[in-house]
Amino acid sequence: MVSRVIPVEPFDLVIFGGTGDLARRKILPALYRRFCDGQMPSEARIIGAARTQQSAGDWRGWVGEALEEFVAAARREPQTVAAFLERLDYLAVDAKGDGGWQELCDRMREGVVQAFYFSVAPSLFGDLAERLHQFGIARADARIVVEKPFGTDLASARALNRTLSEYFSETQIYRIDHYLGKETVQNLMAVRFGNVLFEPLWNTQYVDHVQITVAESVGVGGRGAYYDQSGAMRDMVQNHLMQLLCLTAMEPPSRFEPDAVRDEKLKVIRALDPVLPEDIVRGQYKASDKGPSYREDAENEASRTESFIAMKLHVANWRWNGTPFYLRTGKRLKSRKSEIVIHFKEPPHSIFDEDAGSRANVLSIRLQPDEGIDLRVTIKEPGPGGMRLIDVPLDMSFAEALGADGADVPDAYERLIMDVIRGNQTLFMRGDEVEAAWAWTDPIIEGWTKRGDRPFPYDAGSAGPEEALMLLHKDGRRWREIG
Ligand code: NAD
Repeated sequence: MVSRVIPVEPFDLVIFGGTGDLARRKILPALYRRFCDGQMPSEARIIGAARTQQSAGDWRGWVGEALEEFVAAARREPQTVAAFLERLDYLAVDAKGDGGWQELCDRMREGVVQAFYFSVAPSLFGDLAERLHQFGIARADARIVVEKPFGTDLASARALNRTLSEYFSETQIYRIDHYLGKETVQNLMAVRFGNVLFEPLWNTQYVDHVQITVAESVGVGGRGAYYDQSGAMRDMVQNHLMQLLCLTAMEPPSRFEPDAVRDEKLKVIRALDPVLPEDIVRGQYKASDKGPSYREDAENEASRTESFIAMKLHVANWRWNGTPFYLRTGKRLKSRKSEIVIHFKEPPHSIFDEDAGSRANVLSIRLQPDEGIDLRVTIKEPGPGGMRLIDVPLDMSFAEALGADGADVPDAYERLIMDVIRGNQTLFMRGDEVEAAWAWTDPIIEGWTKRGDRPFPYDAGSAGPEEALMLLHKDGRRWREIG
């Protein structure tokens, strides 16, 4: 594969929370990989900013260790690592006090792109925004990147939007959802809008139903107490699954540009019908040889928070009326697998004998573990014996088709951080989109809380509770296998 790397403009990127877990596992390795590929100009600089008092040298050492852990050995040539580490600087700052801010102001350069990554707890977002303003650090064209969770309900998301908007305009705010940075998710748009083949079929006349699955094999482990306040609905559906649903269901935007795309996504959220209680199944994993139960992990024996949720949604518009969207996500499931699957209808009339069988086309867009797109088409089973139909995959696994080994498919954070520097907000959530997603989520959570619904227990390593299987069975459909 010949990759075309266009260097971005010189920048100062300040990572608040530069000593945190996200910086270590995702942000810094992503920046390093972009550096390796020659996308970062020599004037680029990355400043770590966090509570810990330490020298820039100490932080560089820590970043070096993070790269050893999270970047493939083949990409860690000592000279390249050393050259990358030279770009790094560090400053201790206190988000809630005055310490470090004047120094940060003094270190900012004129004439380069200015970006501030808020990789800290959301309770500190307002403090950071205020101080960047108060100390005259952020210029009018500065960008801020904010991590999830963006609020825990509509009221808190609105409050956060209001606070940020006191200091930054909407065009400066990059609300990150790393699912949008995945290569396959962008390919979903390329497949839909770059081919004439799919778009005419992309509607209720030809699509029987859509399944969106984000399955994880791990439990909530060490973050059980935090997760118990959130649950799968807030942690995964309101943001990641909703974004995948929007990109699947939206009308073609007039251009691949930030507001054109985000306007169409917003219309999908606003077109969602309220979800009926019988169309929602929540679950909690049981104890197994893989580990403790959800309740033990959450350290809350009476917890009613869901570690699994499946639901049936209706997008109430002309395109989708009559085509259900089934969403499911959960922890401690059979395997780690994320995909969007479009199940087309069977041909309206079969010219073949009943014995030949009949099959529907299925288009699956795999997000993880191995990103790729697979279209199942019907052919004749080869050989003698009359006309028997089978379906075979037209498979486009990126790793194979594009000649890259799996490790070379860029990580979502690589693309998204470069988009921040380029000033491209297309793959970031706009404030009204996030609020609309919460406005849809809140009544659903209130509903099950008021009714006192309890999640169904499910076996670790399964596909979730039996009731989730029934959700599709009662419609005469079945979920795809999770691994
Ligand atoms: P973390 O607890 O590992 O790190 C927090 C960072 O914030 C540290 O660098 C710490 O020094 C800094 N900090 C805390 N209080 C501060 C203060 N008063 N002043 C200045 N700095 C302060 O957290 P994390 O896991 O890296 O998560 C950071 C953000 O990213 C959170 O919003 C989290 O929800 C989000 N997030 C994390 C992950 C992940 O995989 N870790 C995934 C998605 C989203």
